[in-house]
Amino acid sequence: MQKVSKMKVKKQSKKKAETCDFCGGEVVEKRTTAEFHHKGKLVIVENVPVRVCTQCGEKYYDAKIWAELERTASSRTNVKREIKVPVKEFGLAG
Ligand SMILES: [Zn+2]
Repeated sequence: MQKVSKMKVKKQSKKKAETCDFCGGEVVEKRTTAEFHHKGKLVIVENVPVRVCTQCGEKYYDAKIWAELERTASSRTNVKREIKVPVKEFGLAG
């Protein structure tokens, strides 16, 4: 079984000052636009609460937030808007 996404889910910690698992940098709460792949389709979800490392940019999602993100992405309703995303083959600049 392959993982659905490269993004990592981290269990919520009660500690206030959180550090990055990778570089030890400071992790701060932000809102992000998450790209979520659901059944082979790309769904973009805006304003997702996430903790981001200020040094390396690694993103940490709470399990609860991740579940909600999954739920949001898989529901067919409440589509805010649709955008066209160009897909290109690397190295073919024309
Ligand atoms: Zn980091």
